[in-house]
Amino acid sequence: MEVLVPIADMRQWSRAQLQRGARIGFVPTMGALHAGHLSLVQRARQLADRVVVSIFVNPTQFDNQQDLATYPRTLDEDLALCRQAGVDVVWTPETAEMYPDGYCTFVEMYGPLTDKLCAIARPGHFRGVCTVVTKLLAVVRPDVAIFGQKDLQQALIVSRMVADLNLGVEIVVAPTVRDRDGLALSSRNRRLTPAMRAKALALPRGLELARRAYRGGETESRKLIEIVAEEVLVNEGVDLDYCDVVSLPGFQEAERADDRCVLAAAVFVDGVRLIDHVPLAGEAIPVAIDDDERA
Ligand code: AMP
Repeated sequence: MEVLVPIADMRQWSRAQLQRGARIGFVPTMGALHAGHLSLVQRARQLADRVVVSIFVNPTQFDNQQDLATYPRTLDEDLALCRQAGVDVVWTPETAEMYPDGYCTFVEMYGPLTDKLCAIARPGHFRGVCTVVTKLLAVVRPDVAIFGQKDLQQALIVSRMVADLNLGVEIVVAPTVRDRDGLALSSRNRRLTPAMRAKALALPRGLELARRAYRGGETESRKLIEIVAEEVLVNEGVDLDYCDVVSLPGFQEAERADDRCVLAAAVFVDGVRLIDHVPLAGEAIPVAIDDDERA
């Protein structure tokens, strides 16, 4: 496995692969890798001849400087995991080279994907995401790039952007990997103490209760959102940032839920922000729910 840092080295490696006719699969990450990231690597290996993982904590997508400062950084472990997973190249560009003095170009999206949820809760976040993903794709020049469903709004925005800008990369969305207790794996979970983690379970529990209510016939989105909010807000120190029912593929808010809809929610657990997206027609989340108590 090669570890590349300068943009020119990454570009040169990709050019050589393309000349050989090899298909490149790409998994962009911010590091602190976990089994969710590795599932994207496995998918990339199935879809391409060579796999590149980028690790770059992109400053332009952080709306909160404290979050950027405390974002977990575990490069040695990350490299070991990538090596085990059969990654060909880990690219760790430097911030000073990605955003040198005088940098002034950004990619901004307008429309239904960027007028709600994380776009409102984190001003400028998707502008940073669109900008960095465009730059990463321009250097790596992959045939296919894999994104996670946990961050579905991001994956849909990237798909739209790649189509709108004719970037010619296939975007694949891979399912969310969860811990055994139902919590979606996330780099930020490393910042949860055991007590915070126990409280964080209210998020997957609330989403699963709402999903079950939908399966049981409740189609009023307001009611489904209330179920999530009630489950989350009984926990001291857990705040609901947003919860909504959005319909795919357009990502419009839906008053009435149907099988095309996804429950999207973000919470703060003592200041640590966690998000999740759950398809109403999807699989159950493996949360512990005392069914007698809920009956
Ligand atoms: P991040 O390092 O958080 O920027 O995430 C890099 C990629 O991994 C994004 O496409 C995420 O959606 C994806 N990802 C993060 N967590 C998970 C998870 N639990 N399951 C699947 N994909 C994930």
